[in-house]
Amino acid sequence: MKPIITLKNITLRYGRRLALHDVSGEFSPGSLTAVAGPNGSGKSTLLKLIAGIVKPSKGEVIKNTSQAIAYLPQSSAIQRDFPMPVGQAVATGFWPHAGLFQSIGQTHKEQVNVALAEVGLAGFENRQISQLSGGEFQRMLFARLIIQNAPILLLDEPFTAVDAETTQRLMQLLLMWHQQGRTIICVLHDLLLIKKYFPESFVLAGKCLGRGHTHAMFDQKLLSFDLDMAELCDGDNAHTSHPPDLHQPHVHTEACSHHDHKDHV
Ligand code: ADP
Ligand code: MG
Repeated sequence: MKPIITLKNITLRYGRRLALHDVSGEFSPGSLTAVAGPNGSGKSTLLKLIAGIVKPSKGEVIKNTSQAIAYLPQSSAIQRDFPMPVGQAVATGFWPHAGLFQSIGQTHKEQVNVALAEVGLAGFENRQISQLSGGEFQRMLFARLIIQNAPILLLDEPFTAVDAETTQRLMQLLLMWHQQGRTIICVLHDLLLIKKYFPESFVLAGKCLGRGHTHAMFDQKLLSFDLDMAELCDGDNAHTSHPPDLHQPHVHTEACSHHDHKDHV
């Protein structure tokens, strides 16, 4: 199947800081992919690149589609004390259709309330977003995704600082969207969730450390991920002490130079 999104030898710098170095990869239509890697490994940058929010310094992002892309940013990057009621925040999901300055009509309001009920926030529409807990805030962002109704979804750490019940509820929504044939790329840290629910994985550390079928990568201990995560964060050469086995089936791997993406401050 022809990929819906292709990354070709992407290098991305923020000023002198190298965030992504020579990253390539493909995402098939309808695929459900986890993006994993230690802090600062370029995960958010990868999503922003696909969303078109940042541009590569080198290489290209090829989108074989004109379909809408919805992007759920990392919640730490969102100003949460902004004075805005929940219903209005969710209704911003209509902007691509309704236009920025058009008022939201009664039908839209009803759709917002249905979306809020679907994520377990029925009756929250007049609450200020600053009053929401971490889990409620993530639920609200998912309600906004429901409103956006996009065939391609990019989610940056939707389950971080979220309780188990909320994680389960939001994960069920993701699985439903996957069953509907949407293409989903989701940054997350929880290896158990990745192994249980995400058929594909894309592991970053500035470079692409591995990509392909999740179980092929993790079950064969190609990347003993939970251990290597810590090592990747700690030592300069730690990950090179566990070189990926380049002969594993279905898995693309690349060696990674830690020096490349760090230390260019
Ligand atoms: P992750 O999401 O994996 O934690 P990011 O993609 O946010 O990683 O960041 C990758 C690298 O790029 C980090 O070293 C980070 O400090 C740097 N970076 C991210 N955004 C910016 C920015 N707007 N300006 C400068 N450096 C940035
Ligand atoms: Mg991030």
